[in-house]
Amino acid sequence: MDGGRQQQGQGVADLPDLRLRVALAPVSWLWSQLSRGQQKVTARAVSQALDVLEGISSPEAAPQLLADRLTGRLQEVRGEALVREPMGWLLRRGLVQRQACSDRRCDDAIRLDTGADCENCANVLHIRRAWRARITAEVDAAMPGADPMARKAAIEERLRHRAELEAEDLMRSRQQAEAERARCQAVRAAAEARVQAEREAAAAAEAARQARPCADCGTAGSAGLCETCGYQRQTQALVEETILVAAAGAAGIGDVADVQAVTENVRGQMEREIAAARPQLLDLINTDDAVHDTPEQLASALAFTALQAVRQAADEYRSSVLRFLAHSPQAQTEAELAHAAELRKRRHQWNPDGETKPTAVHEAADAARWRTAQYLLDTRLQQLRATAEAATSKATEAALPKPRGRWAERLAPLAALPISDDPVRVDT
Ligand SMILES: [Zn+2]
Ligand SMILES: [Zn+2]
Repeated sequence: MDGGRQQQGQGVADLPDLRLRVALAPVSWLWSQLSRGQQKVTARAVSQALDVLEGISSPEAAPQLLADRLTGRLQEVRGEALVREPMGWLLRRGLVQRQACSDRRCDDAIRLDTGADCENCANVLHIRRAWRARITAEVDAAMPGADPMARKAAIEERLRHRAELEAEDLMRSRQQAEAERARCQAVRAAAEARVQAEREAAAAAEAARQARPCADCGTAGSAGLCETCGYQRQTQALVEETILVAAAGAAGIGDVADVQAVTENVRGQMEREIAAARPQLLDLINTDDAVHDTPEQLASALAFTALQAVRQAADEYRSSVLRFLAHSPQAQTEAELAHAAELRKRRHQWNPDGETKPTAVHEAADAARWRTAQYLLDTRLQQLRATAEAATSKATEAALPKPRGRWAERLAPLAALPISDDPVRVDT
């Protein structure tokens, strides 16, 4: 070293990057001859060569492939000791891929990805031989009996020209391949950017949706409706539905006072159910370790409890109305028809002369009765809803400030609704 002017670099074994340690192992002595600055420059070239090799083969194989290349190049110069300029040799000879043909996986006629002989190179060699034979024949035809020296010069000249053309072709196809790669990369980058933008837009839209306040109580960050108000809306809807169900079963459906009474009765009953469920929940919460619940959680639990209570009451109303409709004249008639039909069928098919089994016949009659009850309820609910909707839209047309009036008001026009198949009330 010339007077310690340059800082001594580190050894290959001390390199932090394992890829570099593997790749540079065959030239560790050359590496130790480099100054620290030279090592930095060379390390960058090694990394670039490794990146290229990773693209051609695989990240695991790349360091060994580069090590093999360095070993091969050293054999050409008969060992590290005979390299006079370590960095220059590494950068310009040792690390450089020698693409002997147009295949980018070709290094000195060896395929980097398979390690086998490059077939493309073999083809090139074959083609060159064919060209030499052809050019020789052409020269012999053009210069019959020429002086051997002149003949040889003419052949060499034509071969040189041919080689130039091939080099141009190779250059052109490499440029085309490069342009194609760049185009693909641009397309891929654009697609990735689009996907990313779409993802961000979706995330922003979702965040905006989540941030929307509750439409009913105004609590921020409720995605438009908080949990408590959601339960309250369901409860309200179920109460209204149950009022309709009860109205569908009312005998005096053509009577305003009757419908009013049903409405108030159901509403009052629902309120009592909710009031009864409330202290039960509060008792439960006080004895439970849920005392740490926030006021919002408590409100939500109460709203849910109210919904549960209303659900139970609504089920009972529905069953009661179905029972009532199951004893209407229509249901009675359907049951009798089914009874007679089943009787005929059984007697005829299975037991022409004997007794029929009473249970099957009764089952058929019962099924017809309940089917008719359900049909009557569905039909009447449809009629009631249609009338209520018509009343609501009439109210909206009249530009009333409340598009959803109280049920009592909405049900009032139902008084005018003629239901031809009005059932006769029976004890349920
Ligand atoms: Zn090749
Ligand atoms: Zn709310």
